[in-house]
Amino acid sequence: TSSPQPFPADGLGDPSDNRPQTPLISVVVPCYNEEAVIGLTHPRLSSTLAALGLPYEIVYVNDGSRDRTLALLKDIQAGDSHVRVVGFSRNFGHQLAVTAGIDNAAGDAIVIIDADLQDPPELIGDMIAKWREGYDVVYGRRTIRVGESAFKLATAGLFYRLLNRLSDTAIPLDTGDFRLIDRMVAEAMRNMPERDRFLRGMVAWLGFKQYALDYKRDARAAGETKYPLRKMLAFATDGILSFSIAPLRVAVWLGVLTAAFSVCGIAWDLFTRLFTRHWVSGWASLLFAVLLMGGVQLIMLGIVGEYVGRIYREGKRRPLYLVRERFGFDDNKKSP
Ligand code: UDP
Ligand code: MG
Repeated sequence: TSSPQPFPADGLGDPSDNRPQTPLISVVVPCYNEEAVIGLTHPRLSSTLAALGLPYEIVYVNDGSRDRTLALLKDIQAGDSHVRVVGFSRNFGHQLAVTAGIDNAAGDAIVIIDADLQDPPELIGDMIAKWREGYDVVYGRRTIRVGESAFKLATAGLFYRLLNRLSDTAIPLDTGDFRLIDRMVAEAMRNMPERDRFLRGMVAWLGFKQYALDYKRDARAAGETKYPLRKMLAFATDGILSFSIAPLRVAVWLGVLTAAFSVCGIAWDLFTRLFTRHWVSGWASLLFAVLLMGGVQLIMLGIVGEYVGRIYREGKRRPLYLVRERFGFDDNKKSP
């Protein structure tokens, strides 16, 4: 039940032109406190990849875990030459872990998948098939999501619809970061040095030939979500503020609206002052106007502040993430 999205299937070049005969497949796995699940993930991922019969590597990014994740990844790496490990100096967040994985992946095609087996690795074969047909991005579209709270489903649904209303970039609904990207797309993403990264939006912005592969998102195999409400809100804010300046325009509309109201108010005041005897009254409406204006101004100041803060952070030009350790890479392969 998959359909090409958002581009029609026409106009695809002959894939044999630009797809290598035996491509290297990289799989990027961000891991934060995943000791409970990593021992399940690796065997399932590597048996799926081995069955494809293509050369592959798995790039695990340890995003500053506080548990035994790094030690487990080291063990896995020691026993499997397909495995590479990148360890951050601290927790930088999911989107940056994925970014580091992409930066360190050598593959002709790069697959991004969560560590918790919510995205079935078995789909990677289908993604590669679509890539070989000529698509540059094959992203998973979750038709069914198992084991997510009603609250998460409702807020996620609302968020993606709001984001699409506000943004000029059409960001496909119900997608996550589970996707395959071509080398070319990965290189393009390296040239997007923005700090507040909303990868699924960035990939949508890039364009290229994209294909939506429908799938059922499972429940976590083990462990707990690493996205508490606070992180989810920050992520949603990044999505909207990075892909839309519509919130800034709210100021203009609110201004127009309140100005229109005050013109009516002034007219009414003048009328009562000149033509009636009740012109002393009006404290309540005065207070109301002052409070309303104060509130509206503070909200708008806050929104402007969000954007200014982001400009400030970008202006410092700090590195996006810091790598503390790397295992399993060829010696000649330089770190980014
Ligand atoms: N993750 C990460 N850094 C973080 C939070 C999460 O690398 O700060 C990883 C996590 O290990 C997992 C993926 O991002 O592989 C998605 O996280 P999770 O499954 O907790 O999110 P959910 O599926 O609940 O939205
Ligand atoms: Mg998950």
